[in-house]
Amino acid sequence: MKVVTTLEELWEARAQLPEPVGFVPTMGYLHDGHLSLVRCAKRDNRSVAVSIFVNPTQFGPNEDLENYPRDLERDLSLLEAEGVDLVWTPTAEVMYPPGFQTWVEVEKITKLLEGKYRPGHFRGVTTVVAKLFNGVQPQRAYFGQKDAQQARVIQQMVRDLNYPIEIVVCPIRREPDGLAMSSRNTYLTPEQRKAATVLYRALTAAKKAFEQGERDADALRKIMEDTINAEPLARLQYVSCADPDTLEELHGKVDKALLSMAVFVGKTRLIDNMLVGTGKETF
Ligand code: AMP
Repeated sequence: MKVVTTLEELWEARAQLPEPVGFVPTMGYLHDGHLSLVRCAKRDNRSVAVSIFVNPTQFGPNEDLENYPRDLERDLSLLEAEGVDLVWTPTAEVMYPPGFQTWVEVEKITKLLEGKYRPGHFRGVTTVVAKLFNGVQPQRAYFGQKDAQQARVIQQMVRDLNYPIEIVVCPIRREPDGLAMSSRNTYLTPEQRKAATVLYRALTAAKKAFEQGERDADALRKIMEDTINAEPLARLQYVSCADPDTLEELHGKVDKALLSMAVFVGKTRLIDNMLVGTGKETF
């Protein structure tokens, strides 16, 4: 497994990879969710490249950039064990050298859901992912349904900018009690960790209601809201029942939807989602 930092090192190592190349962008502190993407990439491609970069431009001024968990040694040994061929760990100076002034922005769908509460977040994401794609030049790139809107936004960017890259969206990996795996789960105290299952419980309750015939968007949102509000350690930021394609909030009768939410447990902001009525677990 080759580990590179600079663009020159990356280009040299990339040129030697057998094609097709599958690429998994991450912010590190890897867990089984990340590794499931690596396994999908292994399955579909002759080579697998992974990036580890905590991208400062996708964090807001009051978010957790400074505290975001990092453990490069551990990450590298996990990736080595998965048979990854190339790991790119650029520094902030490599990605954003002095004088940097070019941004990639997807318009409409980045203003909804997460975009409402994290202004500028997706502009940071699309800019860094465009730069990662330009560096790695993969044939396929793997994203988790965990960050459903991010996956949608990247699909849109690839389409709009003619990237010759297939975007593959992989299912959410969960802990045995349903909590979606996330590097941020490490912030939770044992008591908060228990309370954090409320997101899964809320989504499951709404999904079950949908499957039993509840089709009203407001009723589905209310089921999620009531479940979250019943958990004293949780503070709801938003619940959504949205069109899976446009991400616009739905009203009245729905036949398919992306159910999603953001919830604070203590100071930790958690997100989760489920698709209903699409016949698929992912976009
Ligand atoms: P991150 O390191 O949080 O930026 O995540 C890197 C990639 O892993 C993104 O495409 C995420 O959607 C994906 N990912 C994170 N958590 C999970 C999970 N629990 N299941 C599946 N994919 C995930």
